[in-house]
Amino acid sequence: MDERSAVVVGAGVGGLAAAVALVNAGWRVQILERHDRLRADGAALLLWANGVRALRALGMGAALEAIAVRQERGTGGLRTPDGRWLIKMSEPEERGEGLSGTAVVHRQDLHEALVAALGDAATIRAGATVTGVRLGDAPAVKLGGETMTADLIVGADGISSIARSTLDNHSRLVGAGRVAWRAVVPRFRAPEVADSGETQGSGRRFLSADLGAHGVYWAAEARGSVRPESTAGQLDLLKRWFAGWHEPIGQLIAATRPEELMQHPVEYLDPLPRSFVHTGATSGVALLGDAAHAMTPDLGQGACLALEDAVTLGVCMGGRAVPDGLRRYEALRRPRIVKMTKMSRRVGGVFAAQGRFVVPLRTALLRGIPDKTFAKGAAALTDWTVPEA
Ligand SMILES: Cc1cc2nc3c(=O)[nH]c(=O)nc-3n(C[C@H](O)[C@H](O)[C@H](O)COP(=O)(O)OP(=O)(O)OC[C@H]3O[C@@H](n4cnc5c(N)ncnc54)[C@H](O)[C@@H]3O)c2cc1C
Repeated sequence: MDERSAVVVGAGVGGLAAAVALVNAGWRVQILERHDRLRADGAALLLWANGVRALRALGMGAALEAIAVRQERGTGGLRTPDGRWLIKMSEPEERGEGLSGTAVVHRQDLHEALVAALGDAATIRAGATVTGVRLGDAPAVKLGGETMTADLIVGADGISSIARSTLDNHSRLVGAGRVAWRAVVPRFRAPEVADSGETQGSGRRFLSADLGAHGVYWAAEARGSVRPESTAGQLDLLKRWFAGWHEPIGQLIAATRPEELMQHPVEYLDPLPRSFVHTGATSGVALLGDAAHAMTPDLGQGACLALEDAVTLGVCMGGRAVPDGLRRYEALRRPRIVKMTKMSRRVGGVFAAQGRFVVPLRTALLRGIPDKTFAKGAAALTDWTVPEA
């Protein structure tokens, strides 16, 4: 088959991983990114076993070993604000594939590793904002007055995807009524974090994880909408909201500088797009990552699923005609995505619960779950393997 060409819209983790997968499958790829320079928003990422496996399938096992901080067995889990453990998380069993359990990476490191994996086989055009996607027999992307055609267009343009809005008028972006904050505190200023994991109070949550040489990553969530205060004001608010919670929570908030804090509304797609693909006569469009299935971050799986999407797309586009490959991609991804988005909403409902009656009930219920059962449930969610061609 002649070398085929793809245009990938968006150089986030999903778009870059899709580009690597397509390059590995023999495609010529052009990536269009609206920002003037490539950058990774969002501090750090927890990579579960499925995300790790997807990166290894992209040929990035060694690169991952170099940038990932492995979460040691038994150091994570769920706690109450007074520091008592509800669940101690153990890693899923090793599959003899090296770094297979949970790992944390700095997003910028992952970004750079993905760009390095592309080599010369892909070009990245920064400062290129896609203004529309044309469907029909010969799909194309529009960049202002310019139109670009390709055998495959990949819409990896995130939660407010322009590609999705062209392909589908069914899905809606819904606010979860929660706000998330994230930061990385540099090593020299960060307190020791012996145990990673999440602490759950009434309508508020706090997560921290050691990020090796980078320092410590933390993320907090609270019910409500985006706060209008300056980042310094938001930090003051977080100090008050999390006052009295076990350390190092207060120490981490106190050590964070305003310019290190990021705030995001928590949003998700509901319903999902009717289809993640559009097929033309010989070409087509695929949605991938948050563009296809933005979900609440309750499972910490959005980027892991984007990596799964990317690997699957590469497998499907290997030797097939594009429309056939896209139909196979849709068939492989939809059941998994439907299951994970439902689970994320369910878990979010439990973890974000608030109230004098509901929270003690949640605590009692979680305490009643044996650690092994919880770990088994988590392992079932991450149980994904590279599909057959
Ligand atoms: C608080 C929080 C914590 C999270 N933690 C985790 C975690 O621990 N583990 C995990 O797996 N997931 C996590 N996620 C989810 C994860 O961040 C996302 O699922 C993931 O970043 C999606 O990647 P993406 O490439 O699909 O989209 P994005 O990362 O949003 O990338 C989209 C790219 O497209 C570009 N773009 C957008 N529009 C255009 C346009 N018109 N033209 C050109 N370029 C465009 C953007 O600039 C961007 O570079 C978390 C999410 C949140 C909110």
